[in-house]
Amino acid sequence: MRPQARLERMLSVPEESARPRASTRSVLVGLIGSGIQASRSPALHEREAEAQGLRGIYKLIDLAQLDLPAEAAGELMLSAQQLGFAGLNITHPCKQSIIATLDDLSPEAEAIGAVNTVVFEGKRRVGHNTDAYGFAESVRRGLSDARLDRVVQLGAGGVGAAVAHALLSSGAGRLTLVDVDAGRAVALAARLRNRFGQGRARAESDASEAIATADGVVNATPIGMARYPGAPIPSALLRPALWVADIVYTPLETEFLRAARRLGCRTLPGGGMAVFQAVEAFRLFTGIAPDAARMLRHFESMIAGADSVAVSTKP
Ligand code: NAD
Repeated sequence: MRPQARLERMLSVPEESARPRASTRSVLVGLIGSGIQASRSPALHEREAEAQGLRGIYKLIDLAQLDLPAEAAGELMLSAQQLGFAGLNITHPCKQSIIATLDDLSPEAEAIGAVNTVVFEGKRRVGHNTDAYGFAESVRRGLSDARLDRVVQLGAGGVGAAVAHALLSSGAGRLTLVDVDAGRAVALAARLRNRFGQGRARAESDASEAIATADGVVNATPIGMARYPGAPIPSALLRPALWVADIVYTPLETEFLRAARRLGCRTLPGGGMAVFQAVEAFRLFTGIAPDAARMLRHFESMIAGADSVAVSTKP
């Protein structure tokens, strides 16, 4: 079966849902990625749409469920556009490969080299990266007066590129990247120096020396997720004066954050980034600025049973 036929069957969007009612504007969006059934994006977007007086429909287009490779994402996206979607979120493993099928990129998505949100503008497809905004906003709220002179980032993968851009755009003086795949850290550091200036980013093979003189450490690796248990570095490298941020948000309190909190470090869980990337994607899809505090509360209520750590909501 061709991707479009599979997609149409999977989506089964009721015609009346996709068609605007006289009094209610409908917004049909979705997420393309692999293994995304546990995503909280549908609930987050649909509940906020309802609160805004919209009829929001957020569909999961799961490559794993469709038994399709990452390369099928482009064709699936075209089908969604033809079916009347307003746009799509894009996640692993398609954030980079989807770029080849887009007409335009926001300056940020172009600089980061990854797209997590595509907005359909008539026949055009415009790629954005709201992960960087999500992390920057989370830092702005949760680490407002923290020193950012020297920051160490563990992990220089797809999301790591957005996090690094967010850190340097938020005033981080010098960023040290450490990745077990050394080539990734070297390549990202070079791109960051080109954009933010010489001396602002470097790659190191060992985190310990850089952490000894750092103000904060960010985990941008998958270590700490249920599938990748543990911490990205030994807790012996931490000290109370460091702030410690994680981008993993399932669970909200990772082993890394727990060890840091016990030592007395200031910590920032990954839930804020997850919510604020959705806040910005919602704005791009609908043209309406959502109520970020309400989306945060909703996110917290969804995960309350799974984890008791609250996402910082302090402005
Ligand atoms: P990725 O696979 O592209 O990159 C991960 C990088 O981490 C790789 O380069 C890998 O070599 C490196 N790495 C692994 N273990 C390491 C270690 N111990 N030390 C140093 N480097 C190490 O993955 P990604 O797409 O960048 O996603 C990373 C994680 O971000 C995901 O697993 C997910 O938990 C999280 N995430 C969070 C949000 C959010 O909104 N908070 C959004 C998307 C993804």
